[in-house]
Amino acid sequence: MTRYLWTPTEPASLAVHGTAERLPVHRLFFVGRNYHAHAQEMGVTIDKATAQPFYFTKSPVHLLDSGATQPYPPETQNYHHEMELVVVLGRGGFQVPLQRAPELIYGYAAGLDMTRRDVQLRLRDKGHPWCLGKDVEGSAVCGAVRPMPGQVLQQGEIVLEVNGAVRQRADLSQLIWSVPELIADLSRYYHLQPGDVIYTGTPEGVGPVQPGDRLQGRVAGIGEVDLTIAAPA
Ligand code: MN
Repeated sequence: MTRYLWTPTEPASLAVHGTAERLPVHRLFFVGRNYHAHAQEMGVTIDKATAQPFYFTKSPVHLLDSGATQPYPPETQNYHHEMELVVVLGRGGFQVPLQRAPELIYGYAAGLDMTRRDVQLRLRDKGHPWCLGKDVEGSAVCGAVRPMPGQVLQQGEIVLEVNGAVRQRADLSQLIWSVPELIADLSRYYHLQPGDVIYTGTPEGVGPVQPGDRLQGRVAGIGEVDLTIAAPA
């Protein structure tokens, strides 16, 4: 047994539909721009023939279970919701061919990639890393994982409501890079591991939240994600 100077933080984990056992999380990857209409609202046009997907990461300590209440974070006046399909890996792989990428899939969940938009854009425009805009405490919200080993989701509605009003609505068929394409691409850079989690990007309609707001998202056939924003603390 390793002896530590102080008690280590519990490993990050996710709830799983149909079991009380939790899924241990290894890493959190996020795809930058993966729906044309969202890329356009961010001022960018994506040509898949020449573009490559890009990624950022968040520390797994920022994971938050669906149903949480989270204070509005410091150092932003424009905290945004990004509703996303989340894919969770149950097997590892490196330099995985596209046709074998589905073998790494454990399941899917509904998630929120909460973002300090003002900070992210300020950093982006200076050519700086996005960390302070994205790697926000409590900003990786995730619902229970639906086990679907090896299955590729081709379509399904993805919706986010804020206080009961629809803010984001799209279909997974609109993803620019599919889940297998993302897994194969990421595996060129990383030795992917069980418990690696990929937030697959948000559709159009991102926007600000305020203290008191209730966010309710869902992905058809997969599950829901729920977040309440509290006063700054
Ligand atoms: Mn995102």
